[in-house]
Amino acid sequence: MNKLTIGELELHGKRIFLRADLNAPLDGGKVSDDTRLTAVVPTVRLALERGAGIILASHLGRPSGKRDAKYSLAPVAERMAALLGQPVPLAPDCIGPETSTLAKGVGPGQVLLLENLRFHPEEEKNDDGFARELATLADCYVNDAFAAAHRAHASIAAITRHLQPAAAGLLMKSELDALGRILEAPKRPLIAILGGAKVSDKVALVEHLLERVNALLIGGGMAFTFLHALGHGIGRSLLERDRVDTARRVLEDARRRSVQVVLPVDAVVASGLDAPSGHAVGIRQIPEDQMGLDIGPRTVERFADVVKTAGTVVWNGPMGVFEKAPFAAGTLGVARAVAAGAGFSVIGGGDTVAAVNQAGVADRIGYISTAGGAFLEFLEGRTLPGVEALTEAAR
Ligand code: AMP
Repeated sequence: MNKLTIGELELHGKRIFLRADLNAPLDGGKVSDDTRLTAVVPTVRLALERGAGIILASHLGRPSGKRDAKYSLAPVAERMAALLGQPVPLAPDCIGPETSTLAKGVGPGQVLLLENLRFHPEEEKNDDGFARELATLADCYVNDAFAAAHRAHASIAAITRHLQPAAAGLLMKSELDALGRILEAPKRPLIAILGGAKVSDKVALVEHLLERVNALLIGGGMAFTFLHALGHGIGRSLLERDRVDTARRVLEDARRRSVQVVLPVDAVVASGLDAPSGHAVGIRQIPEDQMGLDIGPRTVERFADVVKTAGTVVWNGPMGVFEKAPFAAGTLGVARAVAAGAGFSVIGGGDTVAAVNQAGVADRIGYISTAGGAFLEFLEGRTLPGVEALTEAAR
């Protein structure tokens, strides 16, 4: 990597500013899913074992630049303390004299969690003065917040101008390595599975992937705009009329590049999202008054057949309205197929991660990204400000 990683830093007796993404879902004042917290624990432990003190920082939710008790990191401090088996006190703020005093008191092996960075509007503005204040709290900088690396925010980007050395944490490094394997020299065939509601959210991704993949499997709501573009009747299924031309262009581009595009051959249809059940029909038999809400069993089989041959698979987006039991089978079936494949698999995005967990196959996925937006932007080939900042700092 053209950037430093935490293992290369001299950590003994140093205080490190560790930017993590601890933006976990809360329920009744408790962390309801600690995946993002556990993901950063190896970096925290490494730093503590090497005799560093940690100033841990994160955002939580969207408090829109104002202090709001609802978005306090207090529940995160409590869960983090339980995960680490040591106290994780919460500073009253992320800057200011009181926080500064607390930070100075952090000795080797100790952790201090700063209050929500987004209580200050300067964070999201990538404000240089704010970044300089954060920088005064520590001796070096480590970014383990891959899931937030697509944001040019003060604690992610501007801070590296004021606090060096600046290095990637273990999670950041794993994410970059795993996702890098998709874009650079993947074991072939490389197969992408895309789903989710909208074509519009995925156009840039599809275009970038078409230059690289051998096959593209499309499910979810977005498949219907492609099917419409091919002249199929899709009933009342999700259709983005202003993306029909885009879909046509993508199919044309794929043909030119000899990329195999696999669209659903059947769908589970129902009268609406709240229907108690659906039934599978051939893709040419979608009744006019029905919506396609999942891929059908024959499509799952076709997708599974292609996935079986893959050297590398990348998957983002559910194959149907998997939050509702009658329309979950397609997504769960694809999760099992990806897990069963012998190739290296990478998945990302909240829904997709939830699906592999629900299918009970998470342990057989090659790499599960903690990111959603950053995962997509990375695969779109975009430069992530948080990654760029580490590269710049190493230069
Ligand atoms: P996205 O945020 O674009 O990844 O889309 C995820 C959402 O797409 C999920 O909430 C799914 O319920 C929804 N979705 C997937 N397939 C369909 C479909 N066939 N019709 C309507 N919504 C869908």
